[in-house]
Amino acid sequence: MDADCFYVSAERVRYEHFQGLPLAVIGNQGACVIAKSYEMKAAGVKTGEPIWDAVKKCPDGAYVKRDFRWYEVLSRLMLDVVKEYSPRVEYYSIDEFFFEPHPAKGQDEQAFAEMIRDRIFERVRVPATVGIGRTKTLAKLISDTAKPFGARAVLGREAEEALLAATPVTEVSGIAGRRAARLSPWGVSTCLDFARMDRRIARQLLTASGEALWWELNGDPVLPIHPQRIPHKALSRGGSFGEATDDPGTLWAWLVRNLERLIEELNFHGVTTGRVVVWVGYKDGRAGEGRASLPEPADQFDILLEALRPCLRQAYIPGAAAGRMHLFAVGLRPKGERQLTLFEGASERVKIVSALKKAVNEKHGRFAMRSGATLPLAGMYADGAHGYDICDVRGKSCF
Ligand SMILES: [Mg+2]
Repeated sequence: MDADCFYVSAERVRYEHFQGLPLAVIGNQGACVIAKSYEMKAAGVKTGEPIWDAVKKCPDGAYVKRDFRWYEVLSRLMLDVVKEYSPRVEYYSIDEFFFEPHPAKGQDEQAFAEMIRDRIFERVRVPATVGIGRTKTLAKLISDTAKPFGARAVLGREAEEALLAATPVTEVSGIAGRRAARLSPWGVSTCLDFARMDRRIARQLLTASGEALWWELNGDPVLPIHPQRIPHKALSRGGSFGEATDDPGTLWAWLVRNLERLIEELNFHGVTTGRVVVWVGYKDGRAGEGRASLPEPADQFDILLEALRPCLRQAYIPGAAAGRMHLFAVGLRPKGERQLTLFEGASERVKIVSALKKAVNEKHGRFAMRSGATLPLAGMYADGAHGYDICDVRGKSCF
């Protein structure tokens, strides 16, 4: 199941007058179009386009700031509907679920697909498309070609092959850009070309993950449905700044904000981190990176901040305008599972401040108490739309 123009549809659920209007949802601190309606698409606006270009192409459109908190509410409602009809559902992303179809007696897969689509629309008012196929990869292609508000079951090999022949191989998620370029000397341009190529060559060119797609396109389900999220290997927080900056104080403020968000995640999953990475992307295409190992795994603000300080210095390119930043926590370990060392743990003060910050924010709202280093971003904190990000939607298996 894949909702159609999900963020746009979600805005239309609560603001009915947006129905039929060209509508775009903007993100990245208000700088970019992250979702668009079909009317906006017809005007030539593309996802990822800066707002100032979009407004030129579609001056009569409506542009609204993203509200992931609201999108998560609708996402959970859609999930409830699907779970009513299927015992095995994977919460793949905020608007895409994989599920095992269980048609009732006398109902075929096509009717089942239509029923799921119609129930979601009745209950949540979000148009979605449902595709049923023999594997996850086929189901995804089927739903992509049935959009919008479609429902389609394709189960016979002949019908599958017709679909694969009409679909460029780059439509398969996991085969884009560089990987597709590796396939083209072998004459592979459609999904059917790929499915018919020698499996060993597919593996050689695209590794084991490419081979898995090969099996899947041939109707062999090798990618299972994950009703439970597989444990994280790493956690990450970050994103675009909206406005680029070459000011070290502002960069530091972003680092602190992203660290406060990262710590929320470490706490939520009950893990500590042994290694941290800072990645900074610059407007001129360059990127900087810094890494550090901690003497022992930690989840406290003061300790992680000290570890990140030299990382930012490494990632910093003086005079260059930075546009985005990501922090990564790798080497995750369940909290409590650690070796006692001579320099045992964090100081009392660090522990007390961490616990206090957590308690205040639980009671008074996210970031009600935050580090003073985030002061250069006061304007951003004043706008409620920035309090919540797509990454903060929990339980998804992608992102
Ligand atoms: Mg979608």
